[in-house]
Amino acid sequence: MGLIVQKFGGSSVANTERIFNVAHIVTETYQRGNNVVVVVSAQGDTTDDLIDKAAEINKSPSKREMDVLLSTGEQISIALLAMAIEKLGFPVVSLTGWQAGFLTDSNHGNSRIRSINSERLQKELDKRNIVIVAGFQGLNRYDDITTLGRGGSDTSAVAIAAELKADLCQIYTDVDGIYSADPRLVKTAQKMDEISYDEMLELATLGAQVLHNRSVEMAKKYNVNLEVLSSLERKPGTKVKEVVNVEKLLVRGVAKDRDVARIAVIGVPDQPGIAFKIFSLLAQRKVNVDIILQSIGRNNTKDISFTVAKGQEEQALTAINEIKDSIKAQEIVVDEHVCKVSIVGAGMQSNPGVAAKMFEALFEAGVNIQMISTSEIKISVLIHEDDDIKALNAVHDAFTFN
Ligand code: ADP
Ligand code: ASP
Ligand code: MG
Repeated sequence: MGLIVQKFGGSSVANTERIFNVAHIVTETYQRGNNVVVVVSAQGDTTDDLIDKAAEINKSPSKREMDVLLSTGEQISIALLAMAIEKLGFPVVSLTGWQAGFLTDSNHGNSRIRSINSERLQKELDKRNIVIVAGFQGLNRYDDITTLGRGGSDTSAVAIAAELKADLCQIYTDVDGIYSADPRLVKTAQKMDEISYDEMLELATLGAQVLHNRSVEMAKKYNVNLEVLSSLERKPGTKVKEVVNVEKLLVRGVAKDRDVARIAVIGVPDQPGIAFKIFSLLAQRKVNVDIILQSIGRNNTKDISFTVAKGQEEQALTAINEIKDSIKAQEIVVDEHVCKVSIVGAGMQSNPGVAAKMFEALFEAGVNIQMISTSEIKISVLIHEDDDIKALNAVHDAFTFN
């Protein structure tokens, strides 16, 4: 007998039929003698609908009240799933994030889990109850409700699996595993049997929303046995683990992220200290900067461009405007119509041709590259957002994935 954590995303619990489908998966696992903790997300588009509803009332509500609102979606799901499991005749109890002991920091809307007090969870498991936990939510140390960021239920599930030392953490979703690119956007995408924590962490961070990036980070840290699979088809999914046996591929996957904005600081003097002034101020204001590009000085001036997550461009702009005169910038330009396309693969470190191949594919597809950034296991380019699907497909099809 083991302990299995199963997480079901929004589409897997979207309606009554789907809820009973989940109830059957869960109770079958339980009947095989396992203890089962289930983590669920809000049904279907509930979270998006709640965000829209809030905007009808107040365009800039406090983050605290947003979390009070958004956490309700998951609370509906846990009760409905528990009722379905009751109906099938199994012992079950639903718990909110706080009842399940999730303590987080106070960064409303994007909180990190600090700890889980698993006493209650353990007590319910000892009674041989199936335990249904609301994902995506917790309490901070002031007992205020917090949420973990979009897609955060994955992280709730992995955190419970780590805390309870579960034998397996299964993330059930609407695709049957992790692919070399989003299978809804790239028809030639290949399903993987397994992927390493490091490669999956990069892919998730670079926009592959199939797993919340913090869930992968945590799975790696606590060595959680993680699997992504379909809630609608009974077949093996993709395992995420420390070492992957298969032959090292040059490129493991391709991802895109439209959640970026580019800011260009134009015509600053070509002298030391300017980049320092800009980026130390941005750091002070907690603006996360991603790709940075500085042009070679011409006529004694240079341009500095960088990207931030969408939603942070206002903050960045305000900060730079404050020092605009002191750094003698001629102009500050913001472009929100950009997209980042990235390739990830541990095998690219020792292969100099990979970047050229990616750029060639983009050239042949007629996609202009605005910025480039590379690290040992990834290459990212910034392009116009209208080119996103074209670029994703072109880059994907330039490499082989099996
Ligand atoms: P859930 O509601 O179950 O959490 P998400 O929508 O968050 O589901 O994540 C699943 C979706 O992730 C898929 O429907 C797919 O479109 C998308 N996706 C993006 N990149 C990938 C990838 N590399 N492999 C599989 N799915 C991906
Ligand atoms: N319901 C939340 C969201 O839509 C959390 C999740 O689905 O993981 O982002
Ligand atoms: Mg998700």
